[in-house]
Amino acid sequence: MAVSHDSMILRARTILPVSQPPIENGAVVISGNRIRAIGSWSDLQPLAAGESLDLGEVILMPGLVNAHCHLDYTDMAGMWPPPKKFTDWIPLMLAAKAEWSYTEYARSWLNGARMLLQTGTTTVADIEAAPELLPEMWDATPLRVFSFLEMTGVRSKRVPAEILAQALEKADSLSHPRCRAALSPHAPYSTSPELLRLCAEAARERNLLVSTHVAESEQEFEMFMAARGEMFHWLQRNGRDMGDCGRGSPVQQVDRAGLTGEDFLAIHVNCLAPGDAELLGQRRAHVVHCPRSHEYFRHAPFPLQQLAAAGVNLCLGTDSLATVRKANKEKIDLNLFTEMQAFAARNKNIPPEDILKMATVAGAKALGMPGQIGELSENAFADLIAIPFSGKVTDIHDAVVHHASTVAASMIDGQWAIAP
Ligand SMILES: [Zn+2]
Repeated sequence: MAVSHDSMILRARTILPVSQPPIENGAVVISGNRIRAIGSWSDLQPLAAGESLDLGEVILMPGLVNAHCHLDYTDMAGMWPPPKKFTDWIPLMLAAKAEWSYTEYARSWLNGARMLLQTGTTTVADIEAAPELLPEMWDATPLRVFSFLEMTGVRSKRVPAEILAQALEKADSLSHPRCRAALSPHAPYSTSPELLRLCAEAARERNLLVSTHVAESEQEFEMFMAARGEMFHWLQRNGRDMGDCGRGSPVQQVDRAGLTGEDFLAIHVNCLAPGDAELLGQRRAHVVHCPRSHEYFRHAPFPLQQLAAAGVNLCLGTDSLATVRKANKEKIDLNLFTEMQAFAARNKNIPPEDILKMATVAGAKALGMPGQIGELSENAFADLIAIPFSGKVTDIHDAVVHHASTVAASMIDGQWAIAP
């Protein structure tokens, strides 16, 4: 192993690489923005030439990968109690969005980014409703941000090619060493088959990731399956061409447009028609589950077993704080540990080790960065966090999933974002 003089060695009571078993009294050697070596302190210490730092009684682990978020809605926390139906909530949200100015979106985005950083997220897949915020927001956070530029197309009545051209122009104008632009046609119900198809084409051509909300509510499922129900009639009243309804499930709808592939993050996917899970599995698409948002809307149970059996890569996301239940005066934050806990409470048969993978390596895979983020391994980016721990190594996964405070340290791209 070659160790340069600009390297740094971090020692910790326990290292949890996620992609390999925990290492007690371990060490990680970092050079530049990459991990150069990982192993036991006794093996690595003699090789280290640069700075040495003992983090003490902590678990040193990869930073979490939040596979779905809306940072710009953070300050909408607690604005609305859980609605009876998804279609009751949409107009409230649209009205609030229309009232907000650039300043409010910017403040909200930064508040969200700060919350994620303090609670161990180092990479976030964020949906951008206000693309004007970029690249300013990228420069204002140490987070690794994938910014999915949101596109809708029902109320604006603009032609799909124009909507996409505007997003692509924005994406082309953005370049950053740590952050990246991507596309997000919002959902099949809030867009058109033509916009979905054009997005799929553009994404393949330009090697861009795509993220879309799919089959989130039962009303959306009913609309596409049967051309009826509250969402169907509400959108029809708003002038949407409903010709794509009654032609199969929302998953089939995005598949028909050519979206489902290795570069596609399907958000929510709470309602499946027969064959949908298998289809997503065959296409190697990724599904992002947001436990607290799911609970807020009281959606049908997440079809975890079906999707897992079909081999679908399952990730975790926070969604936005606008869709997290909030009691009076209660402080809530964007926090992937809290999401893991909400998921664990609902899925007692899933081992904590697997839950942690959903918040790390699975998200890394979905974002096209396996082996680069979400794990501690040689040549991965130096994106890591430390949380206090003095227990037994056999309990380590459970301790991580149930970690209940801010992190003790966070490093992103080889730089301390929260110094130990
Ligand atoms: Zn969302």
